[in-house]
Amino acid sequence: MVFGVAGVPTHYKGKLSGLFPWLSEMGLNGLEIQCTYGFKISEDNQSIYKAQRENGFYLSIHAPYYINLGSLNNQVVGRSKSNMKEGIELAKKIGANRIIFHPGGGHENTEQGRKTAISQIIDAVNEFTAEIDMGDVRLYPEIGGKTASLGSLDEIIEICKKCKYCYPCIDIAHLHAREIGSITSKEILKEKLQKIKDQIPDKFQHIHFHAYTIEYGPKGEIKHLYFGKNMSNGEEGRPNLSDFIAVLKEMNIDPWVISEALDSQELGAKYMSDLYNAKN
Ligand SMILES: [Zn+2]
Repeated sequence: MVFGVAGVPTHYKGKLSGLFPWLSEMGLNGLEIQCTYGFKISEDNQSIYKAQRENGFYLSIHAPYYINLGSLNNQVVGRSKSNMKEGIELAKKIGANRIIFHPGGGHENTEQGRKTAISQIIDAVNEFTAEIDMGDVRLYPEIGGKTASLGSLDEIIEICKKCKYCYPCIDIAHLHAREIGSITSKEILKEKLQKIKDQIPDKFQHIHFHAYTIEYGPKGEIKHLYFGKNMSNGEEGRPNLSDFIAVLKEMNIDPWVISEALDSQELGAKYMSDLYNAKN
């Protein structure tokens, strides 16, 4: 069971080494390192991360946003492949065994265009993972938040079916937003997870979750919301995080959940961890 935060929470003001006891005190044991601008971590910070892993903290890495294995431009795909290999080496060094990445895109947003892009991503992943020792590192293509972005639930499942080292990163807020508010009940969320269980059963217990509430519009994601803040239209924040935790329990999922609540990651993570650990 892992409950953690995406990046260093804005409420935490201190050195990186002090972050881990601060998170532990809240019952949290996970950190997703945000390599937004490149797979680069200073030597000092690498040692800090490594030590935390040895203390029972679980680390994942979010790949840079410019990684684009689905691009129309071959040079971008080639660069993204070598970047991913660098990321895998870095992950092995610090003891992070999950790398989360966005499928990217550039092809036309038509059924055919999307299919071409997904098969290109599958080929790219299979190529670079064959050229490197993966150790125990797994790759997690993430559900995209916008209606036009690659990474629908079906597309993520497809990549995970065809790539040995790929496992699903189910960002439940992105899923909700890209489907224009689809997750309105526990049952609906359960059906979506059941689909993963049916189609990639061996990968089901290793799902990586991102969970927080989100604002969306006709094109999908608008923005992540502060933990506990209601949606702009006055509804309760969605997707509903207590329903999400209930589904994890009902489906006997040993969870790895990262909270990406806006400027309040630790509050969302603590809320979910407390609920998960509550006896009933
Ligand atoms: Zn992401």
